Amino acid sequence: MQIYQVERNDFCPCGSERKYKKCCLPAVEEATRAVGRAVGPNLTAYGKEVVNTLGFICGLKWDEGARPPEFERVGRLLKEAWEEEEEAMEEPGGERLDGISSRFAKLLREKPCLRLVRIPPDFLLEIEAHQETDEELKQCIEGVVSGLADDEDFVYSSIVDLAYSLHFDSFSDEELKALFTGLGWLVGKDTRYGFIEVVLSVTMEEFEEAMEKIEAFESSADEEDEAAVRELMDFLQENTVFGEYFYTKLLKDTVPAMRAIEEGKINLVLPLYAVLRGIYKYINEVLANLPRAFIKKVIDEDLFRFDWIGACLWEDGEAKYFLPEIFRVLSEHAGQEEDKSLAMALERLLFASQVGVVINNPDLIERLYLLCLYKFIDGMLTTLPGTEMNFNGLEDLLDEEKVARYAESLKEKGLEKEANYVLEQFRTLGREAKDKYDAGIAGMVKRLCIQG
Ligand SMILES: [Zn+2]
Repeated sequence: MQIYQVERNDFCPCGSERKYKKCCLPAVEEATRAVGRAVGPNLTAYGKEVVNTLGFICGLKWDEGARPPEFERVGRLLKEAWEEEEEAMEEPGGERLDGISSRFAKLLREKPCLRLVRIPPDFLLEIEAHQETDEELKQCIEGVVSGLADDEDFVYSSIVDLAYSLHFDSFSDEELKALFTGLGWLVGKDTRYGFIEVVLSVTMEEFEEAMEKIEAFESSADEEDEAAVRELMDFLQENTVFGEYFYTKLLKDTVPAMRAIEEGKINLVLPLYAVLRGIYKYINEVLANLPRAFIKKVIDEDLFRFDWIGACLWEDGEAKYFLPEIFRVLSEHAGQEEDKSLAMALERLLFASQVGVVINNPDLIERLYLLCLYKFIDGMLTTLPGTEMNFNGLEDLLDEEKVARYAESLKEKGLEKEANYVLEQFRTLGREAKDKYDAGIAGMVKRLCIQG
């Protein structure tokens, strides 16, 4: 029984988006055999489990820049780590064991990729909520530790994060031994508490430091000060867990603003070029494939299951045009909003979207992007922002001549790059969308826009 479960047909944990069996599985099998040979025969069930997990960790191929470890070295050091741990356990007082613990803790702090091995934000929030008395805190921490020990996602993601670090950080022999000891603790059900306690203590220490930084920033409340914002953003980027934690807390403050936007009380109007690719993609890939009943629920959580929004925004690069515009529009609205609390929520929304970019959590931005897309798709905007041109719904967005005129008007304003982007989007996706539209989707689209 493996502590991690990756099926042959699952997506490969290395992030290649290929199936495990067609990606890293053969390398994992080879690594497991090689590490096993280097460790030697006659292993206990637990020993075999550690070797299997280590083989998995060594075999993942990742992408460019990864340095696969040497299997022989890994096997030899694993064996040495076991021997040292065994000797340490025989010594009274447990000081040598503490030494091993603190070596592992030191790695967690110092190796850049091991910054991912931390207590997840939800658990931090839970601990934060139970600090009334020492007794309460102690009980909460015990609960968190045992909860994490049974939490398959935590165990699995920790293994994958250790693997990532093994391929991207550099380790001396001594450091590798400390890493393998930590891994061994994670693998054993009885020893997992040891692993979690070390991770927890490192997380809590850094957390206090992080909160001091964030509180100092917030009490100065000078979000205009670019250097201070930059410094905070750099810190959050390097310490993703705190970034996530901070972001989760921040999101609560943005709820009134998001609601006002969704209800149309705040009208986020972006230039067409900032969402054009999304519009064409929407027509091509989503509208054409979805059952009607589904499309009618215009802004629907389910829609976020489709990767196309993320792919369009990030991989296909529309974010380059979208982000500066959404940031600009949000700060304009915040500056003009008369309702003080809504203005504040808009400020927080702006800040949260910036943090989201920094910590690589795209949910909020994708949601804003989708809302802005719908402004056009729903036909709410007939005069293109910043132009005198009238666009009467989707048909005009698919009209080559009109789109060309729009690009021309951008050029006249000195927006050369944006103009070219618009033309390129029409050539690639717009024309395809037009063909589909002409081929009979037209009627359906029209009805949906009216009903929307
Ligand atoms: Zn892979």
